[in-house]
Amino acid sequence: LPEYKVVMLGSGGVGKSMLTTKFINGNFSEDYDPTIEDSYRKQCTVDNISCVLDVLDTAGQEEYIGLRDYQIRSGDCFVLVYSIQSRETLDEAEAIAEKIFQTKNTHEVPIVLVGNKSDCEDKRKVSQQDGRRVAKGIGSGFYETSAKTGQNVEDVFIQCVRRIKHF
Ligand code: GDP
Ligand code: MG
Repeated sequence: LPEYKVVMLGSGGVGKSMLTTKFINGNFSEDYDPTIEDSYRKQCTVDNISCVLDVLDTAGQEEYIGLRDYQIRSGDCFVLVYSIQSRETLDEAEAIAEKIFQTKNTHEVPIVLVGNKSDCEDKRKVSQQDGRRVAKGIGSGFYETSAKTGQNVEDVFIQCVRRIKHF
């Protein structure tokens, strides 16, 4: 089966690990362990074609300067996660996209921008429109998700596979 590497990137605490575990095995936890960094494999079927997704959940790049080039070089697709509760985390996601374009030396990179924690509507600080605008600017896909309820989580990874095939 073809194998694709998806790299989860974004500020600390936005939900990279919970989106990953929700997708991989359906689990969600209220606990926050900022140190978890691991890769997970899952077989999927997208548009009637099976593949294996190798999802790398990253940690510790809140400072962004520490972003490791090898993670970017090895990624086939990037899920850039921010929290709808924080404008800063959207700005950070945008900055990471620029870093990816620089490292890959092209703007033709499969990226899905994800506004997570959509279940926390009462604490929303970033409108869906603002998220979409950034996605358009970086040429990425866009979803608002909740790792807690599972809303749109599967769709993010399906979109990754479609984008990888498109580029
Ligand atoms: P990471 O640092 O980006 O990996 O963030 P985590 O996945 O560890 O999540 C950080 C915290 O936010 C944890 O306490 C999670 O339970 C919580 N969290 C993650 N995703 C969601 C979500 O979609 N909704 C809500 N309400 N909490 C979330
Ligand atoms: Mg994490």
